[in-house]
Amino acid sequence: MEWFKMKLIKICTIVILLICYITIKSPIKIYAFGVYTHCYIGSLTWQENNMSKQYEQENIKAYESGIMVADIGLLNWDKKYKIDSDSFEFKNKMVEIASRSNSKDTKLFALGWSDHVYHDKHGSVKKVISIDEGYRKSCLIIDKYIISQIGEITLKDLYIDCNLIRDTYKALCNFSPTDEQIKQELDLSLNMMKLMISQVDKNLTNLEKEKAETELLMVSKNCGNKNPDSTILHF
Ligand SMILES: [Zn+2]
Repeated sequence: MEWFKMKLIKICTIVILLICYITIKSPIKIYAFGVYTHCYIGSLTWQENNMSKQYEQENIKAYESGIMVADIGLLNWDKKYKIDSDSFEFKNKMVEIASRSNSKDTKLFALGWSDHVYHDKHGSVKKVISIDEGYRKSCLIIDKYIISQIGEITLKDLYIDCNLIRDTYKALCNFSPTDEQIKQELDLSLNMMKLMISQVDKNLTNLEKEKAETELLMVSKNCGNKNPDSTILHF
């Protein structure tokens, strides 16, 4: 019970903080899209690039999970260790480590992570949604639309390559998060995102949905097996 109370207090504090971040300028790092939008771009990439021919269809879980997990650390440790989990530096190290693995899922997880970094660099929230709602709220509005398309995602739906995440942190900043820490961080951020998305009242019109779909498709095209990292991560 005590544990549950603590968890609830922690979630509430973070939600309040993040709602403040939506309305005021904040020094925290900018992420291009919300977690659901990143995942959706991944599913478009998988279809667009016919990746189920090159990989097996069930491997999409590892690929999409890598995409979704790449923002890990925002809540509890990236600031402390002065590292960005969705930076080029981080993804390059992860790809290098994963390239030595024999696991297809590990490699696809790293490819998904690398694609997330591509989405962050080349995706533009303003192009996806041109309503003047401010950057962070726009991210949530798009995520709300995507959630209505693909449904909610919980921790148990994800393939989480804790060893790969840990080894990358260890190599870059001598930080070694445990499986438990990794899962808690992800669980908290997924729950927080869901709460924040549920607070959004704006729904996209059909025209806005069309525009969003077109833009997200554009971002998806140069990822997956078109990402140069996929050559390094070959099987
Ligand atoms: Zn990001």
